[in-house]
Amino acid sequence: MAFDSLTEKLQNVFRNLRSKGRLTEDDVKEAMKEIKRALLAADVNFKVVKNFIKNVQERAIGQDVMNGLNPGQMVIKIVNEELISLMGSETTEIKLQPGSAITVIMMAGLQGAGKTTTTAKLAGKYKLKGKKPLLVACDVYRPAAIKQLQVNGEKQGVEVFSMGENHKPSNIAKAALEHAQKNGNNLVILDTAGRLHIDEDMMAELQEIKEAVEVHQTILVIDAMTGQDAVNVAEEFNQKIGIDGVIVTKLDGDTRGGAALSVKAVTGKPILYVGMGEKLSDLEQFYPDRMASRILGMGDVLTLIEKAEAEIDEEKAKEMSRKMKKAQFDFDDFLESTKQMKNMGGLSGILSMLPGMGPMGGLGKKGMQLDDSQTEEAEKKMARMEAMIYSMTPQERRDPDLLNPSRKHRIARGAGVDISEVNRMVKQFNEMKKMMKMMGKGGKKGKFRLPF
Ligand code: GDP
Repeated sequence: MAFDSLTEKLQNVFRNLRSKGRLTEDDVKEAMKEIKRALLAADVNFKVVKNFIKNVQERAIGQDVMNGLNPGQMVIKIVNEELISLMGSETTEIKLQPGSAITVIMMAGLQGAGKTTTTAKLAGKYKLKGKKPLLVACDVYRPAAIKQLQVNGEKQGVEVFSMGENHKPSNIAKAALEHAQKNGNNLVILDTAGRLHIDEDMMAELQEIKEAVEVHQTILVIDAMTGQDAVNVAEEFNQKIGIDGVIVTKLDGDTRGGAALSVKAVTGKPILYVGMGEKLSDLEQFYPDRMASRILGMGDVLTLIEKAEAEIDEEKAKEMSRKMKKAQFDFDDFLESTKQMKNMGGLSGILSMLPGMGPMGGLGKKGMQLDDSQTEEAEKKMARMEAMIYSMTPQERRDPDLLNPSRKHRIARGAGVDISEVNRMVKQFNEMKKMMKMMGKGGKKGKFRLPF
């Protein structure tokens, strides 16, 4: 698998760091030098490496070490986050036209990059997603390319449109689109001709296709084995014809993998998929976080880091639980706890415990099980509640007893709600505090308990 050597080198750097009790600035700098060497050896673009090291170093020096992590793990955490960000952070989907409209994708790339194979792989993926693809043989220079597309299309159970070798690619594209309209194909993928090197004719031909039919997505296929060249090719294609995304092939091989790490930073265009083998099923959607963790080869440490991060939230929750027991819970804490709940994902499960939403306020007797419309209603309520709290002064949030009628009127105006709603919220808040005090005395023990 690609990156093996990079993974090994990075692991050595981290191993050396782990044996240190505290990291000095020199330790960090030394480690950065080694990471830099490892990335350059993996064929990552020089400018990209320089920038990457600068970012990691800035963050690593002067960073507080998180509870439960040693300094070496802290550096791993930063390197991991920077690797993810380098590769674009988010997974990018190919943008399809809405509804039943036909999406036209033009595949581009040098000869041998894996264009024809990837075209068929992609068609298979979209067929599974319910699309009806049409593959179009626009590579008229190599009869073998047409045959290859036909064979692969057949294997995927996908129709292939071809007009042989005696037509201009732009005309073939036009005819293919008419064919798609008649036959109900909603995804047209054009397999274009590559050359051994970038040349004007190839670019002109792609341009001509773009003028003949409306191309919605231009996807460049690059070969990871060609290292830095692949990235230079991507930059040139992007400048000359404009690309929307990249597919990096042959990451399964013994490649150094640098292209996958550099291409987003150099071209600004995301990696959409990666080719992981010659079989037609060997195409994987690209997840920057999974790739980073694969490169670091440290699944266990990354899990540990996640836990440490979760513990920080837990600390906050404990602090809040302590306050609640003493009934010191105020509106600031309320806002903080709603934030935490959102972080925990999925409002519906926890909403029922909020004042005015669960058994106390009565949205659904079962409390925990809200259906969609109830969840929506509860979310709206919660947003209004937040708006009311944001309309309070800091003193009012800390000391709800200050809320006299004139202050309540002001808050209602600020939040755009009726005064009765402010009254209701304050009443429920006070009831909740009373209840918490009782629960506190009752002493229900739990590692992490919601503050409501
Ligand atoms: P094209 O000239 O760009 O159309 O390239 P082809 O699709 O003909 O592919 C060139 C060679 O690369 C073929 O032997 C493919 O089987 C191989 N290939 C394509 N993608 C991958 C991949 O992800 N991994 C591996 N190992 N080989 C691949």
